Amino acid sequence: MGNQIYDVIVIGSGPAGLTAAIYAARADLKILVIAGVEAGGQLMLTTEVEDFPGFPNSVQGPKLMGEMRKQAENLGAEIINENVTKVDFKVRPFKLFAGEKVYLGKSVIIATGANAKWLGLESEKRLIGKGVSACAVCDGPFFKGKSVAVVGGGDSALREALFLAKLAKAVSVIHRRDKLRAFPILQQRAFATKNIKFIWNSEVEEVLGKERVEGVLIKDLKTNKTSNLAVDALFIAIGHKPNTEFLKGQLELNERNYIVLKNHSETSVPGVFAAGDAHDWRYQQAVTAAGAGCMAAMDAQDWLEGETAKRAKT
Ligand code: NAP
Repeated sequence: MGNQIYDVIVIGSGPAGLTAAIYAARADLKILVIAGVEAGGQLMLTTEVEDFPGFPNSVQGPKLMGEMRKQAENLGAEIINENVTKVDFKVRPFKLFAGEKVYLGKSVIIATGANAKWLGLESEKRLIGKGVSACAVCDGPFFKGKSVAVVGGGDSALREALFLAKLAKAVSVIHRRDKLRAFPILQQRAFATKNIKFIWNSEVEEVLGKERVEGVLIKDLKTNKTSNLAVDALFIAIGHKPNTEFLKGQLELNERNYIVLKNHSETSVPGVFAAGDAHDWRYQQAVTAAGAGCMAAMDAQDWLEGETAKRAKT
């Protein structure tokens, strides 16, 4: 066991985790970032980022994350590429298990994010960032005036379709059943939108295109017949999974396993804070995650000062 006790341990190294690290490091706190084996978060799967302020000519996702990491390191954050597999928040300092080691923190910021669910096709994986996307707000503006498809039948799929319908020429929603599970109001809006059409009882068998998405191969699940649909982009909107498995039984998670927060960034365990998509299923943006990381670091700093003041009194 390492015998160092960090003021703050950040778990995760997407925009939330690295912004938390930057703020904590500037507050002169001793900080460790346990970045994850696949460090950098969802932006590592993104090519062009046009909506992160400060980059008038856009920036590549991995480049943005690389710069954030360098900034955190330059300010004094220690960063290791390990996955946290277990935590013990019932003891102080908190214990975090990663690789073969146990790390000790007076406070913890969880910024492990959420992963988009994918269909699991090889062609889908190969074309992520080349027309395959899990975020219409991020990538929709690249497809102005084009034809696009969305997979899914829940709220996310219809929100994505309605957002895309304002930009794209045509939006096809491909759903595996003939009933949507989205809120009725979203269904009404989607049905009333002229350039949204539904392809029912169907699944995407393959994403077509070598360098970029050129279409999708669709299978009608009732007839087993396949057909090609020409599209320039495919948005997968079948839900997200927060990376919170290792927290079960340690702090409060909601029915979908997202971290429950109260008073800004506080979790149900005093001294443990959270930021970004592991708690925020609504906005899921790099810039909102970065803002939340800043808030969590400031809250952790306040909490640490409070603890020091309490100890001084006793
Ligand atoms: P969802 O309601 O679970 O819908 C997922 C959709 O994708 C369903 O229509 C499902 O089809 C389809 N689907 C799932 N796996 C598929 C696959 N492998 N291939 C093809 N289709 C597949 O998820 P959502 O649309 O993301 O909406 C979730 C709602 O809950 C939203 O309103 C969201 O804002 C909210 N939310 C709340 C929380 C919270 O913590 N309170 C967290 C996240 C999201 P079927 O209809 O056939 O099952």
